[in-house]
Amino acid sequence: MFENLSEKLERSFKLLKGEGKITEINVAETLKEVRKALLDADVNYKIAKNFTDEVKKLALGANVLNAVKPGQMMIKIVHDELAKLMGGTMTDIDLKGTPSVILVAGLQGSGKTTFSGKLANHLKSKKGRQPLLVACDVYRPAAVEQLKVLGASIGVPVFFEEGSTDPIAIAKAAVAHAKSKGYNVVIVDTAGRLAVDEAMMKEVTKIKDAIKPQEILFVVDSMTGQDAVNTAKEFNDRLDFSGVVLTKLDGDTRGGAALSIRSIVDKPIKFVSAGEKMESLDVFHPERMADRILGMGDIVSLVERAQEQFDTEEARKLHKKIAKNQFNFNDFLSQISQIKKMGNLKDLAGMIPGMNKMLKNVDIDDDAFKSIEAIIYSMTPAERENPELLNGSRRKRIASGSGTTIPEVNKLLKQFEETRKMMKMMTGGGKNIARMMGNM
Ligand code: GDP
Repeated sequence: MFENLSEKLERSFKLLKGEGKITEINVAETLKEVRKALLDADVNYKIAKNFTDEVKKLALGANVLNAVKPGQMMIKIVHDELAKLMGGTMTDIDLKGTPSVILVAGLQGSGKTTFSGKLANHLKSKKGRQPLLVACDVYRPAAVEQLKVLGASIGVPVFFEEGSTDPIAIAKAAVAHAKSKGYNVVIVDTAGRLAVDEAMMKEVTKIKDAIKPQEILFVVDSMTGQDAVNTAKEFNDRLDFSGVVLTKLDGDTRGGAALSIRSIVDKPIKFVSAGEKMESLDVFHPERMADRILGMGDIVSLVERAQEQFDTEEARKLHKKIAKNQFNFNDFLSQISQIKKMGNLKDLAGMIPGMNKMLKNVDIDDDAFKSIEAIIYSMTPAERENPELLNGSRRKRIASGSGTTIPEVNKLLKQFEETRKMMKMMTGGGKNIARMMGNM
């Protein structure tokens, strides 16, 4: 996700390396590169310009501390501005009302139906809700069928009316049905078209007026870049939606939609999805996304996902170990085996600080961790517990035992050490952020 953008931003910060302080002259070169990186990521021109203007103002006005180098200061400023650009703080979904009614709209193929299923799954498993899915796409029988299959897979009932051609009546009947049967969330999947057209807009607007949803979520395919932003604008003008859902962030999306949409429609991004599995849905946190864009990983989301799926007692123990800097190769191994069970590997791995770069250009499948695992399995139990033992001769033995090379072993050890440091700082909370910036 966003690898190109991350890489280009990183390169632009390097231009400040060796500079004693930020000046009009040296900052100009860096900002030119930052702007180029944003434009290449398909960010709207005006937004990119405003962004760099703001960063420049902050950088030149920044109270430069002796301990912080200009490059680090710049990373911090860009990080905070990126988070701001994407909305600043997380905006939760509104589940008031009994039932709460959520209308899902967007173009055909954007991922509406898949998202409706994921949202139902999310609300059921994480918020203890009893959702009802509603199939309002009367034009494509396949769409109704798809929702039924998804509903069955997550154990959520789907409301539909065989042979009906009136989506407004279906939506109304579904809300009444939910009230009488005690479902407390109604998720209405509507029909999309390939492009914005009048009939579709009229229909969604009518459904909106008929069922008065708390939330209207606009679903958009992030791979479509600037088009996504334009479509969002058109939908918002007509529908005044309450939140955005960005899908397909697992593809080679450049990031433009995620970075531009908020400024254009002034509505929060509420969810992002990065995969076809029902579990691939994340609540959107601008700060965490900024972390990821700048290659700091998103360990918080990773831990959260792990906690949802695995033993929380284990997670607590792990957290303690990390805080005490006792995270060792056995923990690393068990993390790998858990990650394998969690879905889209590349996406998940990208949440680990430093991993994104390591895995760039690597096609990840279940074999992706093979050589890492082979190296760890070639260590003795004592070495796994205590990586400090790994001197030159032990590394050589491990390389030959695992069928890898000494540089590969060294690379893993170095990466492990960095991860360990980074994790320790992440768990230390805000007070450690400054130190983390220093280490970078
Ligand atoms: P709709 O026409 O808007 O209802 O779109 P669908 O839900 O049918 O999705 C269109 C296609 O995109 C399907 O093949 C989905 O499996 C796929 N899809 C949806 N969300 C994601 C995602 O986050 N990542 C990926 N890779 N594919 C997705």
